[in-house]
Amino acid sequence: MKNISKSILLTSILLFALTSFGCTSQINNINEANIPSYDDNTRLDDKDLSFLDAFEKTTVTRVVDGDTIVISSGEKVRFILVNTPESVHPDDSKNTEFGTLASDYTKEKLLDQTIYMEKDISETDRYGRLLRYIYLGDGTFFNELLVKEGYAQLSTFPPDLKYLEMIQAAETYARENDLGLWAYEEDKTPPVSKENGRYIGSVKSDKFHELDCRHIESILETNRLYFDTISDATDKGYIPCKACNPNN
Ligand SMILES: [Zn+2]
Repeated sequence: MKNISKSILLTSILLFALTSFGCTSQINNINEANIPSYDDNTRLDDKDLSFLDAFEKTTVTRVVDGDTIVISSGEKVRFILVNTPESVHPDDSKNTEFGTLASDYTKEKLLDQTIYMEKDISETDRYGRLLRYIYLGDGTFFNELLVKEGYAQLSTFPPDLKYLEMIQAAETYARENDLGLWAYEEDKTPPVSKENGRYIGSVKSDKFHELDCRHIESILETNRLYFDTISDATDKGYIPCKACNPNN
């Protein structure tokens, strides 16, 4: 009985969330099998928004692209755990039509809006951008929304992994339902450039690394291999680097 009530509750939460996001056409596609578990995502369902009080409140003054904004202090903010396809890369060959769509989506949702920012562990990335989770005034977790709607893919930012499982579930959901960028490719290969692979190995070694590992600097550009998942790397015989430990 308990399990049945729990799945009914989860189903209700998910349906509520989908309705709020305006993608009612997807509801018909839902069956028990592909409902991801959003155990930690009950925020949309309870109207208690007091959790936002713990976060930094600010206003979005500019949207750089789908996953990067500028806030009223003038600081740039990069959303954690997500990556949208390029749209404003100086090398135009890296920009994709979908990158522009993702950027437009973020503009529509965030530009001139009040948002709440949650820090994980790191203050900034190596480019000096603040690394943050973003919430809308109604409590919507925007990092997750981007992925769930298929505008972004999961991208790991160690050690900032607090919501990894939630974002992973959102990505599985988007992929299984052919949402956003996942609808573009027949074979479900995400339209990312090589530079957006999540792990790096070298043709000269058997180790693979997180993108921010200090060992990557010493790997020549021409010797670099990119992997999207840990199993892509291990299937090819690569083992995790001990310094950056890409397994956790
Ligand atoms: Zn490493």
